[in-house]
Amino acid sequence: MTSRRKLIAGNWKMNASLAGNEDLLRGLIAGLNALKAEVGQEALPEILVCPPAPYWSQVGALLESSGIVQGAQDVSEHPKGAYTSELSVSMLQDFKLEHVILGHSECRRDQFQTDNLITRKVATVFQAGLIPVVCVGETQQEREQGQTQAVIKRQVLSALSLLPMDFDRVVMAYEPVWAIGTGLTATPPMAQEVHSLIRGLLASRTHHAHALRILYGGSMNASNAQTLLAQPDIDGGLIGSAALSSSDFLSIISAAVARNP
Ligand code: PEP
Repeated sequence: MTSRRKLIAGNWKMNASLAGNEDLLRGLIAGLNALKAEVGQEALPEILVCPPAPYWSQVGALLESSGIVQGAQDVSEHPKGAYTSELSVSMLQDFKLEHVILGHSECRRDQFQTDNLITRKVATVFQAGLIPVVCVGETQQEREQGQTQAVIKRQVLSALSLLPMDFDRVVMAYEPVWAIGTGLTATPPMAQEVHSLIRGLLASRTHHAHALRILYGGSMNASNAQTLLAQPDIDGGLIGSAALSSSDFLSIISAAVARNP
């Protein structure tokens, strides 16, 4: 039995609107209040939503006193300056955002973010006192060629390499690239195998590895969440599509409640 509290995180990606956010969050908060009345606050997982930056102010106001926190989808490695389109950690802090997704496969793919850049971003976020949510995962081709373990090892050790030894503030997310937005999901044993590898890699850098959360991401939904979350090293989910519907997201949250210690 582990004492890690589950974390259910929604990555909204580039899906949001003022009206849609309001509907989604009002539904989510109402459902969460009902769940809280049923199972008690203590049994609930931690809940995080990561909207696009233009909505931080609106989402912050809607989430007030809800117990749900919001995070960012990425951040610059630089503190400020001539970096058109980028966001800095101090901007996140202005809006009371603590968690930052880093190394998402869509950023690696579409913005050509390299392991080295992600490593520097992880260090920047950590040094600012925020919590990096570091995504790693193999492509379909890498899995077929038997390179999964090597890819995960390279990405994880690189991402952690500028952190001080014994760090106690990072969330990892295993997101097999072939499972993101495709409807394909790693089987629970397949995911557990990689999560256990990641836990071992964390342990090579910190004595707090047993207390750090490792999320699974990749087409997690209402029907597969329970079995994935039952695995010993799966401490929550990073959810894309299913985080855009309050009822789907609530079903995953409920699955996390059922599995809480
Ligand atoms: C993601 O993009 O982090 C993700 C897991 O997406 P989806 O749930 O849609 O596969």
